[in-house]
Amino acid sequence: MPVEKTLSELVAINSVSARSNAEIISYLRARVEELGFHVRELPYRDERGVEKINMIAVAGAEGFDEGQAELALVGHTDTVPFASDWTEALSLTEREEKLYGRGSCDTKGFIAAALTAVESAALKHLKRTLALVFTADEEVGCLGAKRLMDARALSVKHAIVGEPTSLQPMRAGKGYCLAEIVVRGREGHSAYPSVGASAIFRAARLVTEIEKIAELLKDDRREDFDPPHTTLNVGLIQGGTAKNIIAGECRMTLEWRPVPGQRARQVFELVSQAVEKQRSRDADYECELNVVRLDEATETPADAPLVGLLETETGRAAGTVAFGTEAPQMTALGAHAVVLGPGDIRVAHRTGEFVPIKELHRCTEILARAIEHFCLH
Ligand SMILES: [Zn+2]
Repeated sequence: MPVEKTLSELVAINSVSARSNAEIISYLRARVEELGFHVRELPYRDERGVEKINMIAVAGAEGFDEGQAELALVGHTDTVPFASDWTEALSLTEREEKLYGRGSCDTKGFIAAALTAVESAALKHLKRTLALVFTADEEVGCLGAKRLMDARALSVKHAIVGEPTSLQPMRAGKGYCLAEIVVRGREGHSAYPSVGASAIFRAARLVTEIEKIAELLKDDRREDFDPPHTTLNVGLIQGGTAKNIIAGECRMTLEWRPVPGQRARQVFELVSQAVEKQRSRDADYECELNVVRLDEATETPADAPLVGLLETETGRAAGTVAFGTEAPQMTALGAHAVVLGPGDIRVAHRTGEFVPIKELHRCTEILARAIEHFCLH
């Protein structure tokens, strides 16, 4: 089947993260079982009770080990939501050598290329195990991939993780971490500050300390990244109940993206120290730090075989990504992971997402080469 046709069938299945991905999984399952893959489904219920499924399909030589893959092609089945007035969201539309539709580049384009590549591969002659890993809930925090990691569902030597990179191989990525901070004070009439304690003044002092931490971390540089250091962001802040009431509570979010080699917890520890410092000056300073997410950065060595192969095939030097991917979970499963896919991340989450047809075809060829290189020789 032409890669465009596969992509149009994938895009037609609404698989936004809030819905069950059972329908797209059953489509994928049928497609790969026809080729002789053994399929394992790993279902779970998300926090709202909706059924989600991770799927692992493997093919290999006689007597192969299903739990151990030489090469895995990894793509997430969910997409971000789309505006109701985007009429093309679920019907792939071609204009000027580009295919428009939700998920066309993030990440159904990669999945279509992977299916096309395995269809063209001489699977009968596989010498080593080839796996296709299709996950759920990537767009809401790589939750499906984390389950695969926690369950040690398989071990992988080389993993190509599909994400739009305009076909540049990406061998390293920053981590992604999030904490919720609640600073408490004591309410009172604003005309009499001494009767209360302002949670907003307290939070402001902490934010100033957080900004100093951000400055300090700029010295821990990784020149391959843009920007070349860990970044911090207080993205939301909310506190107080009225203009003439001393604020009793102030909440904020702190997000940080650590560079490889720096532990994800480091920022948390520095902020905890800053809180202690506040407490040493203000005995009833009350502050809760709740870590919501702590995804480590990942890095595959520049001289790893998969990096070398993909650099040769694409003609481009391996780079780094600043956005979250499933590469860390694949690394935890033993893989040298490289992120690669058709389309541009900058158009990925917007209305009018598209994938260039040329890149879709090129990606199919690159994946076919990787299968040949790692599993057929
Ligand atoms: Zn994606």
